[in-house]
Amino acid sequence: MTQGTADERAVSGPFVELDAQLRIDGYRPGRPASHIAADDELVCTLHACRRCRATRLQYRPYLQSAQNGPRRYRMLAVCRLCGEAEEF
Ligand SMILES: [Zn+2]
Repeated sequence: MTQGTADERAVSGPFVELDAQLRIDGYRPGRPASHIAADDELVCTLHACRRCRATRLQYRPYLQSAQNGPRRYRMLAVCRLCGEAEEF
């Protein structure tokens, strides 16, 4: 599993806005349990960008740090070509 510095490059547009909102909500980049991450990464790979129709969207998982109970999880799918981002 690669956790690359290249993946940390900022793209302008929807991703930046969604990322900022997640951070305001207390989420930080982080991977959930490996079987969940694998499933959702596959969804991103197969999903087509709603703007440019490119596939192989980038999987960007976030975890919310909680004092009690299970950590909540959200994910973004980010287009590598045009920077479009969707929350799943
Ligand atoms: Zn796109």
